[in-house]
Parts: sequence; structure tokens; C-alpha cells
Amino acid sequence: MDCIFCSIIKGEIPSSKVYENDTVFAFDDINPKAPVHVLIIPKKHIPDINSLDINSSKVLGDIFLAAARVAEIKGIKESGYRVVVNNGPDAGQEVFHLHIHVLGGTHLGLKMDEF
Ligand code: 5GP
Ligand code: ZN
Repeated sequence: MDCIFCSIIKGEIPSSKVYENDTVFAFDDINPKAPVHVLIIPKKHIPDINSLDINSSKVLGDIFLAAARVAEIKGIKESGYRVVVNNGPDAGQEVFHLHIHVLGGTHLGLKMDEF
């Protein structure tokens, strides 16, 4: 069985798409922690940072380029935004398909346990 984010990419689970290209897919987080809370995922299933290798370099760049596109689309490019990756149990990673959180639309403060 596919992981939940692979199912979202395939459209088997509905999502609110923000941006998509050949390698990445971006959609609104179902439980937003800020006025803008978008997840950006590689279309290829990569479980976590520990699973990356030298061949992952391009998609990592694509994910960050997509973050700037998402910020532009959501109107927070100039006001600012935070990019977060939770990796593994102590970081509270819930979905083991690599994703970055793009958060913004308000002053975010510095609490560590919100995302
Ligand atoms: P993690 O804790 O793994 O970094 O974050 C997983 C994120 O995925 C959480 O913020 C959670 O709200 C979000 N999420 C989990 N399931 C779904 C879903 O089915 N749809 C959407 N849009 N977001 C989800
Ligand atoms: Zn997956």
C-alpha cells in the first residue's frame, strides 16, 4: 500500500494543491499551524533525510525552488516564511515521505514544538 503522501500525489486522496511541477507537489497542510502552512514533497517517495544520497541533490534544490514559488503564490514572499523539516521520532515526524513545511502569514515567534 502507498504512503499517504504518495496517494495525495496520485489524487487518490484529495488535497488543496498550491503548486506542482515534474518533480515536486505542494499542498495545504490539513491541520494548519499558521495562516499559510504548505507542505512540499518530492514526487518520488523518499522517507526521510537519512534516505537521501548524491542522486537526491536535484530534487532537494527543486523543493527549495518550489518553496519560493509557493511563497509567491501565497503572497508571503516579502513578509517572510519559515521552512521546517521534522526528521525522525524526536522531531515528531508523522509521515515518512520527506516534506518541508512552509509557514507564514503571521509573525511566527520561536517556539520549537508547534510544527
Ligand atoms: P510531520 O510531523 O511528519 O512533519 O508533518 C506531517 C504533516 O502532514 C502534519 O502537519 C499533518 O497535519 C499533515 N498531514 C497529515 N495527513 C495529511 C493529509 O491527509 N492531508 C494533508 N493535506 N495534510 C496531512
Ligand atoms: Zn510516499
